[in-house]
Amino acid sequence: MDYEYLEQSDEEYYQCESDDGIDGLISVNSDGDVNPCVPDVSIRSANLVLSHYLRSRPPLYQDLNVLAQVKLLRVLKDYSVPLAAFSSIVGWGKDCYLSNYKFATDGGSTSGRKPVLQQIIKRYNHMDMFPRIAPLLLPHCQRRIHMVYHQFQAMIYSLLSGPELMQDDNFLFHNEDPFGDPPARFTHIGDINTGRCYRETWKELITPGSNKILAPVLLYSDETTTDSYGRLSITPLNFSLGIWKRHVRNSHKAWRPLGYLFDHKEEKLSGQPDPNVAKKQDYHAELAFLLQGIVAIQKQGGFEWKLKYRGQTYEVVFVCVVFFMVGDTAGHDKMCGHYVSYTKLIKQICRYCEVPTDEADDPDANCPLRTMRNMKYLLTHGPTAQQQAKS
Ligand SMILES: [Zn+2]
Repeated sequence: MDYEYLEQSDEEYYQCESDDGIDGLISVNSDGDVNPCVPDVSIRSANLVLSHYLRSRPPLYQDLNVLAQVKLLRVLKDYSVPLAAFSSIVGWGKDCYLSNYKFATDGGSTSGRKPVLQQIIKRYNHMDMFPRIAPLLLPHCQRRIHMVYHQFQAMIYSLLSGPELMQDDNFLFHNEDPFGDPPARFTHIGDINTGRCYRETWKELITPGSNKILAPVLLYSDETTTDSYGRLSITPLNFSLGIWKRHVRNSHKAWRPLGYLFDHKEEKLSGQPDPNVAKKQDYHAELAFLLQGIVAIQKQGGFEWKLKYRGQTYEVVFVCVVFFMVGDTAGHDKMCGHYVSYTKLIKQICRYCEVPTDEADDPDANCPLRTMRNMKYLLTHGPTAQQQAKS
């Protein structure tokens, strides 16, 4: 039996299939005869069965639906899309159909990704959101590097325009009043707006009765590697605002990047009295560069915003203060100028205090806290021996 014959005679074909007793499968040997012993499920024969099936009966709505769904499954598989995406895409298609969305059938570029993005960028004035590159001369290695950074103001704008973040229940205000002052006594320590430091900062920067709101800037950075052996790394510096509750801040949606710090691990500094100190000072020059957006906002006393909260619109001024920096020990040590090594050869292992390493397991050990003055002196004047003594 050959294929043409198959297509001509439905009855014979189906007869043949039922005789074989293999549902939905046909197999053809080299002579063109059906061989019931060797099931053949090649795409070619499956396609023939399908086209024969579609030709032999009127195209049913159901069949076309299944075909479209199978095609979607194939697209998702090709791009390794998560399984759950199927229903979202079908939902999107349904919405498009109901809203009379016009799918471009002429192959025109109106519905391509690039023009769509260009349109959105123009319409919502998103040019500021893009990363920028600026040269920076590192003071010690005297190398000119290209810093990749984001504008702080644009990132703040992006955060404060996010409808998911700006929900009434997400805000961390005292007594549900945006201008509410912290109580004189906290009955319990909870989120970041409880505790002495918050209250003292608030008293220092906010005039009671004014339209100022304390907007704590929270920083986060953690080194990430760009290759499998960890030889080349990059450290993004991100920030969020402390006007939201902790569960909101735990979402990545509440964070924006300020820029990226370079890796100085492999850098060879010649002609420097102490390469380690020089690297740290270069690192701090980069930090200062990335934080200059925050400094500018602080110098102008904050930024104005129309805050919608519980059905009212308030004209407020957000006052930005850096509250704390989230990171790991290695990152914090680097930032504090501490020697990033944790072997017993290091004389003082803690970045907060001067406890000797061999006494670090002793709860009664004498551990005077480090002072900023002390650290500044070491960073600017410290020769290697002194630096490692403090480590
Ligand atoms: Zn300590």
